[in-house]
Amino acid sequence: MRIDLHTHSRASDGTQPPGDLVRAAAAAGLDVLAITDHDTADGWAEAEAAAHEVGIELVRGMEVSTRHHGRGVHLLAYLPDPTYPPLVEQLSRVLEGRQARVPDMLERLHALGIEITDADVARAADGTAATGRPHVADALVAVGAVGDRTEAFDRYLGAGRPAYVDRYAAPLAETIRLVTEAGGVTVVAHPWGRSQREWPGEPELAELQAAGLSGIEVEHEDHTRTSRDKLRAIARNLDLVVTGSSDHHGTGKIDHELGCNTTDPEQYARLVDAAARAAEAARARGRTPPDVVRP
Ligand code: AMP
Ligand code: ZN
Ligand code: FE
Ligand code: FE
Repeated sequence: MRIDLHTHSRASDGTQPPGDLVRAAAAAGLDVLAITDHDTADGWAEAEAAAHEVGIELVRGMEVSTRHHGRGVHLLAYLPDPTYPPLVEQLSRVLEGRQARVPDMLERLHALGIEITDADVARAADGTAATGRPHVADALVAVGAVGDRTEAFDRYLGAGRPAYVDRYAAPLAETIRLVTEAGGVTVVAHPWGRSQREWPGEPELAELQAAGLSGIEVEHEDHTRTSRDKLRAIARNLDLVVTGSSDHHGTGKIDHELGCNTTDPEQYARLVDAAARAAEAARARGRTPPDVVRP
């Protein structure tokens, strides 16, 4: 069983339409795929249709942009009812914040002598519900200002770089609760990725677990060997589920090929069990969380 629980499609900042992502996962020999676009369930329907077509197990999820103690944290939310109004409200705020900062970023780029327009970004963001920095990066590539997305982040768009603009992010503990109320389960994405610090650590993760967190993504390209070992030990101490995934973005991220990291089947079973319990409680309150799509 090969299980990849974190991937992006064109519904956010991946480069493949959701159906193509699912077909590529089946072609790559995966048995289970989760589609987890940033802050949106927009790709779910197309992904579901393709999953039936190619006979792969599909987990519908999303990666929510949250903040905790002033720091950005990505939260994987699996199988929540995407129509739960308080969740919709938080996701809308994030999506609006993403969109609203684009003109500021373009102005900063302009001040640096780089002329890209709203239309350039809109072209790069065609098909997405979540216009973000990766699309501004693609527009920069299209005009030849940089060679690829990574260079765009390193030179202009990353935190602390001259065209960086902050945006709204949903409060982490509250989002964990909302996803649970919506019948879903949550896993902190790449908790120690792209940062020099080992944060959130065991005390913070224990607190989040008390708020309803089910697991942590340990096997991820942005984690060093040492980080993975330490995170696995924390998960064992707290009895959190351990996941592994590619964080595939099509051709938008190098070294994140489908299945490059995978989740242990036993850990996946625990996560699905937790989701079934959350879904049952949510259904009793009138929510309609989705099921895992099984071939
Ligand atoms: P946003 O949420 O709009 O700020 O965009 C964040 C997304 O940009 C992340 O989820 C990544 O997919 C991508 N990203 C962030 N940093 C980098 C980087 N240094 N290189 C390439 N992509 C990045
Ligand atoms: Zn992304
Ligand atoms: Fe992420
Ligand atoms: Fe991601």
